[in-house]
Order: sequence, then structure tokens, then C-alpha cells
Amino acid sequence: MNEEKTKGNEEPKPSVSFIEQFIIDDLKAGKNNGRIHTRFPPEPNGYLHIGHAKAICLDFGMAQKYGGKCNLRFDDTNPVKEEVEYIDSIKEDIRWLGFDWEDREFYASDYFGKLFEFAVDLIKRGLAYVDDQPADVISSQKGTPTKPGTESQFRIRPVGENLDLFYRMNEGEFEEGSRVLRARIDMTTPNMHMRDPIIYRIIKAPHHRTGNKWNVYPMYDFAHGQCDYFEGITHSLCTLEFEIHRPLYDWFIDQLKTSDYRPRQIEFNRLNLTYTMMSKRKLLELVQDGKVNGWDDPRMPTLCGLRRRGYTPESIRKFIDLIGYTKFEAINDVSLLEHAVRDDLNFRAPRVFGVLDPLKVIIKNYPAGKVEEVELINNPEDESMGTRKVPFSNEILIERDDFMETPPNKFFRLAPGMEVRLKGAYIIKCESFRKNENTGLIEEVYCTYDPATRSGEHASAKKVKGTLHWVSAQHAVNAEVRLYDRLFNHEDPAGQKEDDYRNFLNPDSLKILKGCKLEPSLRPARPLDKFQFQRLGYFCVDYESTEAHPVFNRTVPLKDTWAKMNK
Ligand code: ATP
Ligand code: MG
Repeated sequence: MNEEKTKGNEEPKPSVSFIEQFIIDDLKAGKNNGRIHTRFPPEPNGYLHIGHAKAICLDFGMAQKYGGKCNLRFDDTNPVKEEVEYIDSIKEDIRWLGFDWEDREFYASDYFGKLFEFAVDLIKRGLAYVDDQPADVISSQKGTPTKPGTESQFRIRPVGENLDLFYRMNEGEFEEGSRVLRARIDMTTPNMHMRDPIIYRIIKAPHHRTGNKWNVYPMYDFAHGQCDYFEGITHSLCTLEFEIHRPLYDWFIDQLKTSDYRPRQIEFNRLNLTYTMMSKRKLLELVQDGKVNGWDDPRMPTLCGLRRRGYTPESIRKFIDLIGYTKFEAINDVSLLEHAVRDDLNFRAPRVFGVLDPLKVIIKNYPAGKVEEVELINNPEDESMGTRKVPFSNEILIERDDFMETPPNKFFRLAPGMEVRLKGAYIIKCESFRKNENTGLIEEVYCTYDPATRSGEHASAKKVKGTLHWVSAQHAVNAEVRLYDRLFNHEDPAGQKEDDYRNFLNPDSLKILKGCKLEPSLRPARPLDKFQFQRLGYFCVDYESTEAHPVFNRTVPLKDTWAKMNK
């Protein structure tokens, strides 16, 4: 929570994260001439997920709040795994979240020339060398955190030879994997990342931006910190796993810098959520193996999946704000995210009637052919959302489980001899019903209504315990409704060493209901329009929806059903 209680009569004072405090302190101390400049650095090798939203909200949010700038920089150092499709989706998702990088769209590949020159410079200063050993030998010489590494025989290779080989590596003369360029730092320091790390490798695949210009590509670690430096980034905010890389980034900047300026790297904890996983590689596997219907499947933790599911950017930002930034890895409860979207949609989503599993109710004393329009409030939380008219007639549909032939004690819905209110309309009383003798299924329920009980009129003061949602059978819109549940039935599906995460896929994560009946006001609804189906939950129109075949996705039920189950 971002509100902290203070003593006495003072107003609660908003607290700031440790990162924000660092920024405030730096600004106060006049560092970087009072400038704040951040960046969000995605690797274009997958779609953004809600974990990325945590980084985006911080990078763009801090810049916004303190009058600074935030760059979008694609870390495209690996031509093999990157695709333009990902770049487009990443931009769309950041905009959707509500952030803007203006004209500052950069690519690590913009700096390939500068990075190459820097590598050449390191070679000339005896700080880098070409190693001819294969990758497995190099890695076997790395040592362990307590045991120093072994120096490569090529570590003492003369500068001229290193230069010649590095240029020829880039000319395409050598095969992939046959040689690498390593920084010459220290094979004995406890920090393994400083033990002569590989900084350039040969890759002969074309790059999405630079084509076939390069045959050598910088390692991520040799690009990231320097790109920040080239762009004048003041605060490089990143996740905790990069803390141990920081001395290496600092070492590179030390070789590069010509003034006091250097980006300040600050690490924070990753977002992890229960019942899902954040690894792009594994999410890609789900897509490729057809376990989900694409990156934007509403069960995915991707931003496009959450959008299609009916999440609003506001609800995601609120959630990120709620969990905050710390130095400790943790796993956040997905029900907190669901709570955030419920809270947000409560104010935003108009109420409507939708019957997912319809049962016909015939009101015997209501004139056949008569149609009345009852007026209903669109959102009790927001008067400005107005009212709408819903047709009422002698044949209506209610939810099948709102009727019971022999109800238990506290069943306050419809049953023989019982009365309920049809919301916004009349009180009806169940007189009898018809059951299919073979299947045992109730086919029709017969009721009478009391004309004096129309909502809003005098006699409507009559009390009944149950109120049901309903739709008029002849006016109802037919729809498909997709009910989503958690994609995995394990809290931490990717964290079980013995078991593959695929073993925890929830077989009931998608239920498709056909023949659902909705009130006619929903006919013109467009993809991504959001509604509260009263008594049921929040629903959002799917991209596949058409006027002839409406499709709705359930965002969340009104109540947390998992919390109930776990009690
Ligand atoms: P993955 O491991 O899923 O491939 P990544 O860290 O490689 O993710 P990037 O595209 O490099 O993904 O991430 C861009 C930025 O988003 C980085 O600064 C990274 O620290 C941050 N980020 C990625 N995942 C999370 C997360 N779960 N929580 C918070 N920030 C994240
Ligand atoms: Mg990364």
C-alpha cells in the first residue's frame, strides 16, 4: 500500500518506494544537473506480460512524476530469437497501459557500430582478447564462486593478432562458435561475471534491422549498460537478477566514461503471480504447443491476454501500485489482481442481464403478446451512466440454478410455492413446473405475477427474499460465453523442479457456453466493451464477436470463488 498512517491528527502521508527515495535524493543533491531519464528495455523475443508492466509503470512512472523522460529501447542483441511481430505488440501494449515514449524509440542495434569500436578499443588497450576455445571449455574454466577460474591460453595473445582475428570474425571468415571475444578482467574474483566474460560472439543470422551487416554480435551484458550510457540514462531500473552483473556494467562504463556521469542501476524484485508463470520462453511453448489459443488467449498473463480478458489498464496500474517495489523476491496472489479489476470495473461497467444457463418461466396471468419496458439503472455507483429500457413479456428466461424443485432451507430463489422479485419488474410466484421424465431436466416453470408489485410503484414495498436477473425470451440475444479459470492448478507451476509445468495445466481453464441469452441492449456491443452481468461477474466482448454471433469473455466472477473453495 502506498498510504502510510502517521501519528496524531496529521493526514496520512503517501510513502514512496526505496527507488523513488533514491531518485528524490539524487535530484536534491543536484546529480545529473537535476535530470531524470529512464528507459524500458524489452528484448523483442516475446509478448509483454504483467511482470513487464511492473517495470513499465516504474520506468515511465518515475520519469513522468519527476519531469523526466523515459526511452523505449529494444534490446535486440540476439538476431536469432527476435521478430518484428514482437516489436509491434510491445509498442501497442505500452501505449495501452497509458505510457508514451514520444520520439525516443531506440534499439540496441542502433549502437552496434559504437559497441564494435569500443570492443576494438578494449583490444588495443589489452583489455580484450580473442579466445579460440569452444564454449564448453571456456565454461569449464570458469571455476566456482569459491574456486578461482583458470586462465585461457589465449589470454596473452598479442594485441595485433587479437585485432586481426576480431575483424576477420566480423568479416564472416570463421564459423559460429569457433571463436569469441572476451574482456580481460580477472579470473580470480569471487564475482563469476567478472571472470573474463564473453563480450562478442559470431552469429551468421540476418538481423531484423541491420540485415547482414554484422557477423559478430555483442552479448547482452556488453550492450545493456553501455546503451544506457550512450542515451544519457540517469537511473537504470531493473530486476534483482541483474544486481550481480552491476560490477561488470560499472567496469565497462569505467573504461568508457569521460566525465563523472554514469547511469545509476537500482534493482527491484520481479513480479511473480500465483497460478501462472512469467517466463517468456515457457509462454512461447504454451503458444507453440497449442495449449492456449495464442499469445492473447485470455488465460495468458500477457498484457494482450489480460486486455482480451477484459482487464483495464487502470486496474493493472492499480495492482502494480498495490504490490509496490522491494528488494525481496516474492510471489503475489493472483486474487489481488482479480480484486483490482473488480474494483475498477465496478465503477466503469454498466450492469446488464445475461442468463448463462437459461430455464423458461411462463407467467400465466400476464397477457400473451403484451410487452412492457422496464427501466433499469445502468450503474448504481455512477448516476451519470443513466438508465436503459429492458422488455418484459409473459415468457422469460432465468438461470437454471435459480430454480429448485425441492429446495433446502435457506434457498431464497424460485421453487414451488415461493415468490421472488424479477429485478426491475414484478414479483412472481411459482405455481408448478414441467419436468422431462426421461432426463429429469426441468423444462418449464409456471408462475403468476402480481401486477401491483412493479418495481418503483407503491405496492412494490412488498418484501421478498430473493431477486433474480432475467431476460424476455422473445427479445433475448443469443450469445456464446467463454468462462475462464486459472490456467494452472498449482500456485507455482514453473517452480516445481521434479515436475514439468505442463503437468499442472488446469483442464477446466476454459468452458464454452453456447445458447446463453442476453438482454437486447447488448446487441450493438463492440469488442472490448465491458459489462457486469448482474449477479454473475464482469464480461467483455471478444474480438471474434459479431452481431450475428456475439461472444463474451468472463473477466472475473463477482466473488472470489477460489477463496471460498479454500476455506
Ligand atoms: P523473461 O525472463 O520472461 O524472458 P526478461 O527479463 O528477459 O523476461 P525483458 O524483455 O528483458 O524480459 O524485460 C524487459 C524489462 O522488464 C527488464 O528490465 C526486466 O527486468 C523487466 N521484467 C521482466 N520480467 C519482469 C517481472 N516479472 N517483474 C518485473 N520486471 C520484469
Ligand atoms: Mg532480459
